[in-house]
Amino acid sequence: VKPKSILSTILLVCCMAIRLCLCSSSVVSSLKALHVQGQFSFDGNEFAATDFGNQFHFLPSAVLHPKKVSDIAATIKHVWQMGPASGLTVAARGHGHSLQGQAQAPQGIVINMESLSGQEMQVHRGKFPYVDVPAGELWINILHECLKYGLAPKSWTDYLHLTVGGTLSNAGISGQAFRHGPQISNVHQLEVVTGKGEVVVCSEEKNADLFHAVLGGLGQFGIITRARISLEPAPKMVKWIRVLYSDFSTFARDQEHLISAENTFDYIEGLVIVNKTGLINNWRASFNPEDPEQASQFVSDGRTLFCLELTKNFNPDEATKINKEIKSLLSQLSYIPSTLFVTEVSYVEFLDRVHAAELKLRSKGLWELPHPWLNLLVPRSKIHSFAEGVFGSILTDTNNGPVLVYPVNKSNNFHNIFRWDNRTSFVTPEEDIFYLVAFLPHAVPSSTENNGLQHLLSINKRILNFCEAAHLGVKQYLPYYTTQEEWRSHYGPRWEVLVQRKSAYDPLAILAPGQRIFQKAI
Ligand code: FAD
Repeated sequence: VKPKSILSTILLVCCMAIRLCLCSSSVVSSLKALHVQGQFSFDGNEFAATDFGNQFHFLPSAVLHPKKVSDIAATIKHVWQMGPASGLTVAARGHGHSLQGQAQAPQGIVINMESLSGQEMQVHRGKFPYVDVPAGELWINILHECLKYGLAPKSWTDYLHLTVGGTLSNAGISGQAFRHGPQISNVHQLEVVTGKGEVVVCSEEKNADLFHAVLGGLGQFGIITRARISLEPAPKMVKWIRVLYSDFSTFARDQEHLISAENTFDYIEGLVIVNKTGLINNWRASFNPEDPEQASQFVSDGRTLFCLELTKNFNPDEATKINKEIKSLLSQLSYIPSTLFVTEVSYVEFLDRVHAAELKLRSKGLWELPHPWLNLLVPRSKIHSFAEGVFGSILTDTNNGPVLVYPVNKSNNFHNIFRWDNRTSFVTPEEDIFYLVAFLPHAVPSSTENNGLQHLLSINKRILNFCEAAHLGVKQYLPYYTTQEEWRSHYGPRWEVLVQRKSAYDPLAILAPGQRIFQKAI
């Protein structure tokens, strides 16, 4: 490298640093002059540069703690009016449970949506009950509020300490999705602040394009400030069942049978278990073996196993009827008979199950570690090739965190419901049935062993490379890409719609820069 070019590089870096300083100091003074009912904070904003993934840390210039929706609208309008030259971006931050900085805004403004969560939730009873909630509200709080009326939302995520705006910006998928669709299919109406600072109420009937754009829209088209969520009568109790398979084909056939049956379970998920010891012993802490003697003879060590996880909701006076139904449903399945484990918990305990695991992990210092998670949607026709190539081959063990695998179907012969709406921004594989496969490890940052961050990231890379080389038509869920080319390929033929919507609702590309889809025009 020539000394002259070193000098010019140093000069360029200095100029950029000075520009950033000037830019961020003018941002600070212009925001200080803005009239809002909440407040901006300019220091102590490290929380806004942190997320659950714990791999990306970009500080914003300011954080808005809004009190009213008008605070959000005024802030975005202000940035919009500054024009493209300001380079300023805005990210809504829900509960910050993104994985790769998606809720961060480097040098920009982060909006702390949880400070809007103090606003009232309004439950509406009647034939088609629903609840109106601020988008910064956590699902766990919505559950508790709705239960006061004997009601509950229909579709969930596995973990409820996430905000409504955060999950609706992705999809919100869990073991109820085969029945009710994802969370984005269970919303009647939204209030949104667009990238021009306009407050718009939208639904299927009113401003429908914005409504669909925002659902699964990765925060690209507007900030959701309120949502109207569909409810159903809440059960009191849950029968929670686990059974094991040693053969993936049998496991997948049973899962697909159950999601397509007329009378079936209320929740259907599955787990892959690779090279894990003491599995059944761990279950015994909270589950009861149907046949304790046979269960005690079952040895899991070293094998690749598949665990089917099921629940049936019930109220105490229906226990006998439900037990009969469960027996009949289980008789249609081909799991390893000695591995039937059952427990009975309250509906809240079941839905909030990951929080219980969180508390245990926190106490061991294992929650705030980096999480190199990878979530994939695999078409049904390719799931066997995927399983053969990945489980027990690329994946050497599942000791660093769970690996989920379960199918969902877009249509169902028995329930003629519109469950996966392709007018939303959410992308799925083309086929009617596809599998969610989620690799959910935690990493020990300095470790060079199997639990090290670099090792786990390299496994993710191998899985993605395998899918690409084998042309499996896999889509990432909670996607992470670094180039626009990759985003184009993710959206496929729907890329053009995405671009049109971006230019209609956020033409300066102010919103959700952490997704890295569009760059703010400078
Ligand atoms: P954030 O991380 O704060 O934000 C996510 C993205 O949405 C960002 O781009 C942000 O700018 C944008 N955003 C946030 N709020 C708004 C808003 N109001 N309007 C517009 N854009 C907004 N997902 C599932 O589908 N199913 C699961 O079972 C599931 N389980 C999970 C379990 C754990 C332990 C964790 C950490 C995540 C899980 N997820 C699951 C993923 C989760 O749904 C997403 O990461 C979700 O975005 C987290 O919500 P959040 O409130 O933390 O969002």
